[in-house]
Amino acid sequence: MKINISTKLILNYLLLVALVFSSTTFIILHKLNFESKVQLENELVTKARLISEFIPVQIIKQENINQIQPLVRIAKQKAQARITIIAKDGQVLGDSESEPEAMENHRSRPEVIDALQGKIGVSTRYSYTLQKKMLYVAIPAKTSQGEIGGTIRVALPLTTVNTLTVNILPNLWIGIIVALILTIILGYISAHVITKPIRQINAMTQQAIKGNWSQKIPVTTQDEMGSLAKSLNLLFQQVQGNIEAIKNEQNKITAIISSMSEGVIACDTDSRILLINKSIEKTFNVTAADCQNKMLLEAIRNNELDEILSLTLRSGQAQQSELSILVPIQKIFQIYASPLKKEDQTVGAVLVMHDITELKHLENVRKEFISNVSHELKTPLTSIKGFIETLLAGALEDKNNNRRFLSIIQEHADRLGKLINDILELSKLESKEIRLEFQPSDLREIIKKTVETFTPQLVKSKVTCSINIKDPLPQVQADQDKITQVLINLIDNAIKFNKENGSIMITAELQPDSLKVSIKDTGIGLPAADLPRIFERFYRVDKARSRDLGGTGLGLSIVKHIIEAHHGQVGIESIQERGSTFWFTLPI
Ligand code: ADP
Repeated sequence: MKINISTKLILNYLLLVALVFSSTTFIILHKLNFESKVQLENELVTKARLISEFIPVQIIKQENINQIQPLVRIAKQKAQARITIIAKDGQVLGDSESEPEAMENHRSRPEVIDALQGKIGVSTRYSYTLQKKMLYVAIPAKTSQGEIGGTIRVALPLTTVNTLTVNILPNLWIGIIVALILTIILGYISAHVITKPIRQINAMTQQAIKGNWSQKIPVTTQDEMGSLAKSLNLLFQQVQGNIEAIKNEQNKITAIISSMSEGVIACDTDSRILLINKSIEKTFNVTAADCQNKMLLEAIRNNELDEILSLTLRSGQAQQSELSILVPIQKIFQIYASPLKKEDQTVGAVLVMHDITELKHLENVRKEFISNVSHELKTPLTSIKGFIETLLAGALEDKNNNRRFLSIIQEHADRLGKLINDILELSKLESKEIRLEFQPSDLREIIKKTVETFTPQLVKSKVTCSINIKDPLPQVQADQDKITQVLINLIDNAIKFNKENGSIMITAELQPDSLKVSIKDTGIGLPAADLPRIFERFYRVDKARSRDLGGTGLGLSIVKHIIEAHHGQVGIESIQERGSTFWFTLPI
């Protein structure tokens, strides 16, 4: 059973008051009893003395019952007490309540023994004659010479004493009940006052358990409670300060971890997820709330990742590995897994995932570029070497073929030169080595001039080219040589990959914040699958045809780099066998 402090205090007060009252009552009653008995004794002694005057010793000594008994009856009327006259030998000579002859010898009664020895004998005992508890007082009946002639005994029932106690008791009871009621009322008030600070402290502590440490306990007293309230206020303040500091630290760490571009996963020894950051959420298309406390494999279905974690937890050693994922987006990660240690015990592990997709891509592009360059350079070189060997082996004297062979060698050498020029140009553009000479440029003029340079080639290829520019065009900031090169590359392709009697249409139009130039041809077009990669280096749909036409596979890549250096965009729309439209924009 739960008893609160107030009730305990009230019960204590009640117990205390009851104890004090009962012991006081006991002492008072005892004292009262004793005093009344003494008083009664004195009264009986006085009465006995008076009786000794009334029934003198000489009469007693005669031991004449017939004479003594009537005197005893008279004396009883006066004394209002039981009177017994006893001879020296203990024989009852007279008794106010009984017939002396019928009474046994009283020599052995304690009060009689004392009286016969000359003292005042007192005894309290039950009287079988009167059927009551009696107080007996006996005095010796002495002659003037001091001789003891018998005993005068006076007795009164003790009820007189008890009556006193009985009379006082109701008052005492009333006193006790009033005191107890007052104790309950005052006890309740004082307990309420005493326990008020305790209740306040309790309420505040409950609030603190719920996380509210900012409250203050009112200090209303200067006693121990006041001091406790002050100490608790200080404690609350310190705890709040510490919690705030920990929260700030935690926020900082959370902010750092969540803003990291690397993915971070922290797990406990059971491989349960403790934390993941935004990057992981994005990479694996999950949410931190869903992953919390789940097994890693359950939350992120990736066996390799789970194996790295298990290995780290098992070995307690840092691990490194590469991981490729295909869904939701194809990516490659470098994974660093470190065990979390607490006093040399592995208590978990942290996985940091570094996205190296771009790095890997660049590495592949570089490898591909080197192999492409070597391959592209090898082809004309092999041909040149072959024809020179043929010439040296005697074909030099072969008047029918030697010139033809030499012109083939020249053709390949030109191709080699063009290839090297294109590679150099591209590498300069990529390394941002080239400084573009931006100047206000009239695109209509540049297009016109460039198309003019293609006249012989257009005639030879039986392709027509028209320029369609309606709007008056504003000037753009551009490097004229580079834009000319873009146009050359695009018009050259439009002629090369055109059909006989095909046509080319060049348009330039004003857009909200740029100028858009389109080169549309009626040529062979491109398969849709090749469109996304067409601006890559060395990417060619038909390698043999491109080479035959003197292409290097770098033209469009150069176009893209130049336009991007002008902060513009390039694009293509094409339908196979129907023609293509290459376009680029230049910001105004
Ligand atoms: P190339 O030196 O081979 O012309 P480019 O980078 O200029 O190199 O072009 C890459 C490839 O794009 C070409 O080999 C060709 O397959 C395709 N291509 C370019 N322009 C056109 C076009 N106007 N019509 C059809 N295909 C084209």
